[in-house]
Amino acid sequence: MSTLEIINLHVQVSTNDGPKPILKGVDLTIGSDEIHAIMGPNGSGKSTLAYSIAGHPDYEVTDGQVLLDGEDLLSLSVDERARAGLFLAMQYPVEVPGVSVANFLRTAKTAIDGQAPKVRQWVGEVGSAMERLRMDPSFNQRDVNAGFSGGEKKRFEILQMELFKPRFAVLDETDSGLDVDALRIVSEGVNRLHETSDAGFLLITHYTRILRYIKPDFVHVFVDGRVAEQGGPDLADRLEEEGYDRYLK
Ligand code: ADP
Ligand code: MG
Ligand code: MG
Repeated sequence: MSTLEIINLHVQVSTNDGPKPILKGVDLTIGSDEIHAIMGPNGSGKSTLAYSIAGHPDYEVTDGQVLLDGEDLLSLSVDERARAGLFLAMQYPVEVPGVSVANFLRTAKTAIDGQAPKVRQWVGEVGSAMERLRMDPSFNQRDVNAGFSGGEKKRFEILQMELFKPRFAVLDETDSGLDVDALRIVSEGVNRLHETSDAGFLLITHYTRILRYIKPDFVHVFVDGRVAEQGGPDLADRLEEEGYDRYLK
């Protein structure tokens, strides 16, 4: 049993007008094998939360803690966090021209595990993961995310998640911009990792649609940089009907 604990997290970014506070005291604990959904309006700080956990340099933590099994995650570098078992699927995955998918996956896997995967087994694993996610094997030779469609980028994020086998996965709007087929394929990837591991999930989303395919254990409504309400899956149903207006005064 592992826990990812976010305690009273305050985060700011620097702007031309000076520092701007975005996260204003986030409290959230995710256990192994749990699926937590964070839902909130645009601009409420959801991506900031994801980036702060992952260690993006633009986001300055001014108060609070993030602990992985009691260990101070915020004192670790980005790659140390990945090696500690943290994975972030980004809302806007970055293109990396000049680095092939095959090369990237093998290098990242080696860095995360501290040893290179056995070639034959790895090639097999990548191949079957790609097949399940309906990614053509020719993606191996393409540069990371370069010229990928929106849906292909999101499937590639899920491919990485499945291959790297994190202890905690943060998925930032992986559902945005997907058609129904792609949404189902991406959701199946998440459900597969959930079934075959005890990874914990933080599923950030604006819409309730993905929650028809992935059943969260807990739902948190995120408004203006903090959790405004927490509940079970039924809270998502209520948001579907009522929207976020109730929280925006
Ligand atoms: P969400 O993901 O919920 O839509 P974000 O975390 O992306 O929200 O953004 C929250 C607020 O912080 C927004 O007002 C956004 O413009 C601002 N913000 C986020 N990142 C930066 C940044 N690097 N520089 C300036 N403002 C930022
Ligand atoms: Mg966002
Ligand atoms: Mg499980």
